[in-house]
Amino acid sequence: MLAPPTIFALSSGHGRAGVAVIRMSGPAVGSVLESMAAPRPRPRYAALRRIRHPATGEVLDRALVLWFPGPSSETGEDMAELQVHGGRAVVHGVLGALASLPGCRLAEAGEFARRAFENGKLDLTGVEGLADLIDAETAAQRRQALRQADGALYAIYEHWRQGLIAAMALTEAGIDFSDEPDVANDALSQARAEIAPIAAAISAHLEDGHRGELVRDGFQVVLAGAPNVGKSSLLNALARRDAAIVSDEPGTTRDIIEVKLELAGLPVVLSDTAGIRSATGKVEEEGIKRTLARMRTADLVLWLMDAADPNALPPPAFLSARADRHLRLINKADLIGGSALAATAEGSLLISAFRGFGLDALLERLATIVVARAGDQEAPALSQARHRQQLLRCRAALSSFLADPIEDAELRAEDLRRAAQALARLVGAVAVEEVLDQVFGRFCIGK
Ligand code: GDP
Repeated sequence: MLAPPTIFALSSGHGRAGVAVIRMSGPAVGSVLESMAAPRPRPRYAALRRIRHPATGEVLDRALVLWFPGPSSETGEDMAELQVHGGRAVVHGVLGALASLPGCRLAEAGEFARRAFENGKLDLTGVEGLADLIDAETAAQRRQALRQADGALYAIYEHWRQGLIAAMALTEAGIDFSDEPDVANDALSQARAEIAPIAAAISAHLEDGHRGELVRDGFQVVLAGAPNVGKSSLLNALARRDAAIVSDEPGTTRDIIEVKLELAGLPVVLSDTAGIRSATGKVEEEGIKRTLARMRTADLVLWLMDAADPNALPPPAFLSARADRHLRLINKADLIGGSALAATAEGSLLISAFRGFGLDALLERLATIVVARAGDQEAPALSQARHRQQLLRCRAALSSFLADPIEDAELRAEDLRRAAQALARLVGAVAVEEVLDQVFGRFCIGK
């Protein structure tokens, strides 16, 4: 078999820095170290070496060199890491020298992770966890991603898959003994008894209120209300930066503007929407349509009303019906007097985006809601749509295995095969190229 190319890349960020990390992986790594950083350091111990150009012998830098012989390396191949000075000319010089060596080439995006996956060092959910860890912006995202990268989800899904495989053996026995109905039915009943708790566990995992997805994708909070009630002003006040344009003229916030907040360590995506009213122009009409769509899918809607407006628009009926999905805010509290305040505030939060009044109370209330919705953060949670899709397939096949006639042994065996196939796709034991491209395409070069 042809040896795979040895790949290398700058794995730390681009641009001038104190230190830059260049990683390489592949069969030529040992000889690369001999020719550029001799003598090769002791495995897994850092050593200070002169890095030389292999052709000219010119010293390019003095660097810390680490040598990780395979298979007990991150990718499973021979690997090395050069911690060079992070100047552009140093990095450029070392990468150029590496590129001049036979069998070596620059890595593509996600190629290190892909090799780790192909060499069985990581399952697909672990790879996704790694990508999430690199993207993590909040503490909760970091914790969840790290757990997943460490194989917490893999352990759960693989355990279920092994259970299905064991039940498949029983079902096959049921088919083999089809001329002895007692034996066959015994085997099939036993398979059912083993599958029932797995099916229940999958259902519980699926019905977790999307808490893992909330942590991963952010809690979607939408600001809505009539034009001019102060949505943009509130967004700005909360984000403490000028993310939205504030104007005196109604209907200027036509597009959706988002800011990301971190509340109690959890990610919140706050978006400002076009004001709801009968539209006057085409652009605005489109904006309102989008606003309504967004309100329906939001995890929480902040419905704003103007304290000084006696005809303040109440939230639309579909929203009022979902008490846990919206919070009424009465803005411009600074415009009305004390007694009016008390009367208006019932069941709503009184704020002034302008004066910053009530904003701490609002953030506290939001944090409480988000924490409650995110639930138990210690237990590994389903973290993304791809996983949900395969688990739903798996559960559907198991439901039919448990409920449909047991005498149709061939069909029941097929149910289990379909269920196991879904779990195999989930962890990547069966890999579909399109899915792999999508998963590894999320990484940048050097990961
Ligand atoms: P939007 O159309 O809902 O996004 O509303 P804007 O944020 O553009 O605000 C509309 C007008 O209300 C602007 O003139 C703001 O300065 C004003 N406004 C917003 N919040 C307050 C507030 O708390 N108090 C007062 N007095 N005016 C406010």
